[in-house]
Amino acid sequence: MNTDKALIGLTNRFNANNYQPLPVVISRGKGAWVWDVGNKKYLDCLSAYSAVNQGHRHPKIIRALREQADRLTLVSGAFYNDRLGLFLEKLCNLCRMDMAICMNTGVEAVETSLKAIRMWGYLVKGIPPDQAEIIVCAGNFHGRTISAVSMSSEKSYRHNFGPFTPGFRIVDYGSITAMENAINENTAAILVEPLQGEAGINIPYPGYLADIRLACNRHNLLFALDEIQTGLGRTGKLFCYQHETGVKPDILIVGKALSGGVYPISAVLSSREVLGLFKPGQHGSTFGGNPLAAAVATAALDVIVEENLAERSKESGSYLLGELKDKIRCNELVDIRGKGLFIGIELKVPAR
Ligand code: PLP
Repeated sequence: MNTDKALIGLTNRFNANNYQPLPVVISRGKGAWVWDVGNKKYLDCLSAYSAVNQGHRHPKIIRALREQADRLTLVSGAFYNDRLGLFLEKLCNLCRMDMAICMNTGVEAVETSLKAIRMWGYLVKGIPPDQAEIIVCAGNFHGRTISAVSMSSEKSYRHNFGPFTPGFRIVDYGSITAMENAINENTAAILVEPLQGEAGINIPYPGYLADIRLACNRHNLLFALDEIQTGLGRTGKLFCYQHETGVKPDILIVGKALSGGVYPISAVLSSREVLGLFKPGQHGSTFGGNPLAAAVATAALDVIVEENLAERSKESGSYLLGELKDKIRCNELVDIRGKGLFIGIELKVPAR
């Protein structure tokens, strides 16, 4: 019988133990709501780590998925498909970037950006072969591949996974001095999240991104922003960096809500000077840029724009933040903070 206990037991029996889920078995979702196998209703405040910004099973996105699934799903990069160009035009215009390259998961897009940065470092900046460095921040979360955990300062993400990818310098998040001190002639880029999510809604001082932009201009570095979790409306702007004026990254990394949680698709956006360096064969992915992903993501972007989701996130977020601050009373509470609907509640960690 498919009771929640039986399903949890089955999953635990056959699934590698790489997550520690709450004992709730979700079987249905609609909008901001999900239901468990016993039909109990929950407000989904996690929203798949911001992948379902448009809400669960948004009808427009599901319609696009169905229609495209009935026509064509995958041809690989060996052929053109009739959806990718249209999607990329929409994405690049929305993000005000020249070009993009599509991947599937967020971490693949991060990996792609690392390759683009290194290539630009060698071919354009003239860094000696194999010497390129990228500055990243303590507390970052850029995913789980070997290179992503090589950038991580979190011991538990790294333990037993060495040897690590070289070429990263980890500095304190929120300190422009630390960043400036880490720059040398082999530095190709600075890669940051505009607001650290996994680190516990870590919001840097106002002007931090503008300071990084200036440092990048001064030292001829690429400014790469990982907006996989903060982007596409979650923080009350289309992109979190837009909370600051006069800041535009050279490389923008997006994922998660790019498909509204319906199909994995991620992308790296940049200028022709950077992404135009890729030559056939230097990078790719069988599923990257497939027509099903492109059709779904086109609809997902339309929903964000047509339904004004960034503005609505700002309004609902400020209401929710106010209510949480007003209503939550407990001894363990340290702080409640966020931007838009990207909100975290910090509690005292019990001494072990
Ligand atoms: N970068 C950031 C900021 C993220 O929050 C995540 C996932 O949570 C990733 C990268 C990795 O994305 P994915 O899990 O799709 O590989």
